[in-house]
This record gives sequence, structure tokens and C-alpha cells, in this order.
Amino acid sequence: MSTTQTEDRAGQSLDKPRRVVLKVSGECFSEVGERGISMRAVVQLAEQIHRAAESGTQIAIVIGGGNILRGAQFTAGNSSIHEATAHYMGMIATVLNGLALQDGLESLGCATRLLTAIRMEGVAEPYIRRRAQRHLEKKRIVILAAGTGSPFVTTDTAAAQRALELEADILLKATKVDGVYSEDPEKNPHAVLYHQLSYQNVVEQNLRVMDQTAITQCMEHDMPIVVFNYRKEGFLEKAVQGDRVGTLISSEAKLS
Ligand code: UDP
Repeated sequence: MSTTQTEDRAGQSLDKPRRVVLKVSGECFSEVGERGISMRAVVQLAEQIHRAAESGTQIAIVIGGGNILRGAQFTAGNSSIHEATAHYMGMIATVLNGLALQDGLESLGCATRLLTAIRMEGVAEPYIRRRAQRHLEKKRIVILAAGTGSPFVTTDTAAAQRALELEADILLKATKVDGVYSEDPEKNPHAVLYHQLSYQNVVEQNLRVMDQTAITQCMEHDMPIVVFNYRKEGFLEKAVQGDRVGTLISSEAKLS
């Protein structure tokens, strides 16, 4: 880890990360309340990532696919499709988003590589851990699509897994809300926004941060997670530089 220090709002200092894994959900690829891909939304996201990459932190992005298809939802009440098939469809949906983000970033002059966990060499490189690390060392923005390549999990789990295997310093989760709340802020306007939490708090209070497998993996390997609002100007840049935005989840963090 680099020794550069930055100040958080409580005055504590955090190390500037050398490498981060950024999880972006499918909803970041569409307009509010819509589905599918909006290149306007993609370019807005790409602009933030582009600025964040200028800090020198290496960035690998794990892409969601919920704007197109989620396996579990697609099969609910639908016996004519095997659930595994629907999950593969969901993984392929993330590749559509990945291709859009790659072009969005390259239109801004960023060097990128799209790597997929399901082989499709005609459009992207296969995901190979060492190759991904090499691209990151060369300061290319690495886009990781097709999740883990295996059905029945989500891209949150893929993000946790990639953060661990790529030896990221932190896992960043970009969302449309300001961080982790005591309850769903869209349903209860009095929900409390937490600034920091331990993994244990997340599990015990059953907080909706990431899926259970992802939280467990991060907890077992002490991978800090920051959940923040990527739509707030400059927040993605701050998160990538180790500035405290949103909610920090780590083993030492005390609920506040
Ligand atoms: N998926 C999967 N294995 C993975 C990652 C994703 O089967 O390793 C499928 C799963 O059906 C999931 C869908 O791909 O619902 C899209 O990903 P996700 O729901 O995580 O997208 P997000 O909610 O982040 O937009």
C-alpha cells in the first residue's frame, strides 16, 4: 500500500489505495426508473471513472447486469426455464454493459481491457488473474464481466472474489444512495445513514449492503468495503483515493 495519507471527515487518516475493485450495478447503466442501456448514463459513469483513474490508483471494475436481467427474478414463477440458464443469461447481460462501458471510457481516451469470466474471445479477453494484474500495473482500466462465470451467485460475490484475488486494498460499491442505512431510505425517510460498521454489524442487523456470500468473503479476509453514492460529484474520485465517503465496513470499524 502507498503511504500517502488523506483525511476523512472525522479527521482520521486512511492509506491511499494502490488498487481498488469497483462494483457498479446494472442500474448505473440506465436512466432512473428505466431498464436497458443508456449511453448517456454510461458516459456519465465513464467520466467519473476517468477522473478517478487520474489519481494513479489502479481500478478494476466488476459490472452488474440487473438493468437487463437477474437470474433469480427471471425464473420466479417461470417453470419453463432452468434457473441456471437464467443466471447464465444474467452473466451475459453484464458483458453487454461491459462493452458499453469500454467504449464509453475509450471515447474519453482511457486505456481499457474487457475481460470475461465466460470465454467469448471474439469480443473480449478471457479473465486470467495474472493477466488482469498485468493490465492494472500498466494503468489500464480493467472491466470484469460475466461475474464469476458460475450460476446462482451475483456480481457482488464476483466483486468480493476479484478484490481478494487481485489483491485490491479496498472494495468500492457504487450505489445511488449515500451509503448503508438502518432501513431502506426509499421506504423510510427517517432511516439512519451509518458512517462506519463492522462486518458483524452488517450480518447481525441483516443490512442490505451486498449479498451474504460477498460479505462473508470480505469478513473472512478482512477486505474493507466502502459503499457510496457515485452520483455525487467527485465522490468516486474521493473513494478511489481513500477519502472517506459513504459507509466504511471493516473489522475495526465501530457502528456510528
Ligand atoms: N450472475 C451469476 N453469476 C455470477 C454473477 C452474476 O449467475 O457470478 C447472474 C445472476 O443471475 C445475477 C445476474 O447475473 O442476478 C446479474 O448480476 P447482478 O444481479 O449481480 O447485477 P446487479 O444487481 O449488480 O446489477
